Order: sequence, then structure tokens, then C-alpha cells
Amino acid sequence: MTWPATERYFPTAVPGGLGLVQDILNTAPSGGAPDADLLGDVAAAQAWISAALPTWAERTGRTAVRLTLTEEDLPKLRQLREQLRRALHSRCGSTGGASDGDDGDGDGGDNGTARFTSCALQVSLHGDAALTTEPEGEGWRWLTSAVLCEALLAQTTGEWRRLKICRNERCATAFYDRSRNNSGVWHSTRDCGNAANLRASRQRRRAGAEAEPATGGQA
Ligand SMILES: [Zn+2]
Repeated sequence: MTWPATERYFPTAVPGGLGLVQDILNTAPSGGAPDADLLGDVAAAQAWISAALPTWAERTGRTAVRLTLTEEDLPKLRQLREQLRRALHSRCGSTGGASDGDDGDGDGGDNGTARFTSCALQVSLHGDAALTTEPEGEGWRWLTSAVLCEALLAQTTGEWRRLKICRNERCATAFYDRSRNNSGVWHSTRDCGNAANLRASRQRRRAGAEAEPATGGQA
């Protein structure tokens, strides 16, 4: 069982159901390795979710579900993906990033207090005092419910804050930060971090070389 969107870019083992949130984020093509948008058409979206949901069921101990997506679901799912991306960017203090540009929910801002979306979710109390959650609705509503439910559960365990968007804007893949103090900003230090550090040091050298004649020429 795999997370089909994320594993296009790197092997991953995100804890439990949080992988579903990471996977919908990574249905977007990475600028670093241009691939198909898995929410670009119904056939691709259906193939993605049909492969992702068995993984979700396995990782969360739920019974397997089948979800049928239609043309109408796609704009809503791309909007959810963009809202998640913007929220994670905002949390990390990053700017911009890859975008579908069709968020259009008219809430007039993307600061920390704007509510991007909401969904119905069934919470049940069982006779043995166990509490369980079940996504509600059909199509995009069900998937929004499942994704936000996993994010909420991950927030209670502290795992949610470790889900991030790679700071390399050309990459922008969603990754799980395993660093001890949750300080990671690159999905891969080798692939994205080193390239950025190299660019920054070249810029510093260039800036230094340009500044030299102006300051060094005066007696
Ligand atoms: Zn990256």
C-alpha cells in the first residue's frame, strides 16, 4: 500500500492517516519534476483516489471505502488543495508558492484568522467509551471531511505542525518534517536545501564583488 501522489517524488512513511492530507497536496505537479496534475481530469483523479483510499484504510484501521469522483468534484478538490497549501505556507512564514489560483471563496484574505473551509464530520461515542470519527457526504464533500478529520486528529497528537511545504518554490512538495526541533524547511536538504544555499552564497559573493570597487577605490 502506497500514497500514490507523494511517492511520485519521494518514499514516505507519514504517521497514520495524515498521509492522506500530504497525498492530496502532492497531487499537484511539482515544479522540480513536472508531472501530471492528478486532480487535472476525472480519470486521473479517480485513479489517484482509488489507490490512496486503500492505503488510508490500512493506515487508520478503517474499513475500505470506494469513492466516485465526477467532473463537478474537481474544482472543489483543487480549491481544498490550494487552501491547505496556503495555510501551511502561512504557518511556516513562507511566501507564495505553487498555485491553482482558483481559491475564490471570497473570504477576503489569507491571514491566520481567515476561515478557508469547513465540513461535516460524524463523531460517535461507543459503549466502551471509545470515540470514532467518520467522514460525511459524497464526492468532494466526503474527501474534504476525511482530509480535515485527519488534519484535526494530527493536530491533537502534535503531528500536524510537522506537515510542511518545501520552501523551494519550484519544488513545493508537501513533506513530513522529522527534524528533532521541527525546524526543517526543505523536503530534501540534498536536493532543495543545498541548491538554495549555493544560490545564496553565489549572490553574497556577487554582492561583495560589486561593493568592492566603490569602497576600495577611495584613499
Ligand atoms: Zn523540495
